[in-house]
Amino acid sequence: LAPTAYYFTQPSEAKLLLHKRDRYANKGTFGHALLYAGSFGKIGAAVLSARACLRSGVGLLTVQVPRCGYLVLQTAVPEAMCLADDHQTLLTGATEISSPAPTDFTTIGIGPGIGKAPETLAMLKKLLPTLKKPIVVDADALNLLSENRELLDQLPPNSILTPHPKEFERLTQKWDNDYQKLDILREFAKKYTIVVVLKGAYSAIATPDGDIHFNSTGNPGLSTGGTGDVLTGILTALVAQGYDSVEAAVLGVFAHGLAGDRVAEQRGPIGMVASDVIDALRWD
Ligand code: AMP
Ligand code: MG
Repeated sequence: LAPTAYYFTQPSEAKLLLHKRDRYANKGTFGHALLYAGSFGKIGAAVLSARACLRSGVGLLTVQVPRCGYLVLQTAVPEAMCLADDHQTLLTGATEISSPAPTDFTTIGIGPGIGKAPETLAMLKKLLPTLKKPIVVDADALNLLSENRELLDQLPPNSILTPHPKEFERLTQKWDNDYQKLDILREFAKKYTIVVVLKGAYSAIATPDGDIHFNSTGNPGLSTGGTGDVLTGILTALVAQGYDSVEAAVLGVFAHGLAGDRVAEQRGPIGMVASDVIDALRWD
């Protein structure tokens, strides 16, 4: 058994990971990402992940939201194209995402604010077998995987999962201490050949090879609603641009935390909101 390597991301390493832009590039060079996000009452999650994705260099972005989020998304994020899911429920109109988008995208991010409606689970079941390239999975999409474990085997290899500790516990098991938690994390990433970002202070990124990269940036100001949705948008943008999944996770988590650190420096760590983090992102 190969020993696990542990890393602690340094600013110089993150800088080396950053792709330089070709002078002759066009938007096609940087991929077309699709985000599945939002449900009735949580369209803000779709807005935040979409704005973060666009602020992280994606070439083109389409966001699929339930019909109740269509006008919100188009107004709040004019740079994104928008697909309105056609699922209809009584009284409220369409409140959840229920069907996969028709066309092919460079990558997909799924989860922010989507909820766990039966229609959304059905959509996930239809979607997963059609995928061949790595995707980014977060939030209630992770909880749907926890409750329908056979779907875990259908994740495209090298997909990135971004659970917070509670979501990770649902995906795996309870742990007694941090050593056991890291063992569980490593085994989970290896078993499904995926990259798992266990979020929190010093987020731990487990690779399919069993390595663990601890993130060095970020602060407790990030402990506020929506910052995880921002991370999903960032990672989706990096995968769409052709970053390898481990590099996308290490660089994206670092940049997200660094943006949070910039906000904390400007206005202190209390009162930070997720939109501030998007505004503070820098890719240089
Ligand atoms: P979520 O729980 O999905 O909203 O994600 C929260 C985001 O904020 C993750 O990227 C966490 O790593 C980050 N975060 C939350 N609390 C802290 C903390 N105390 N230090 C650093 N990052 C944090
Ligand atoms: Mg979250």
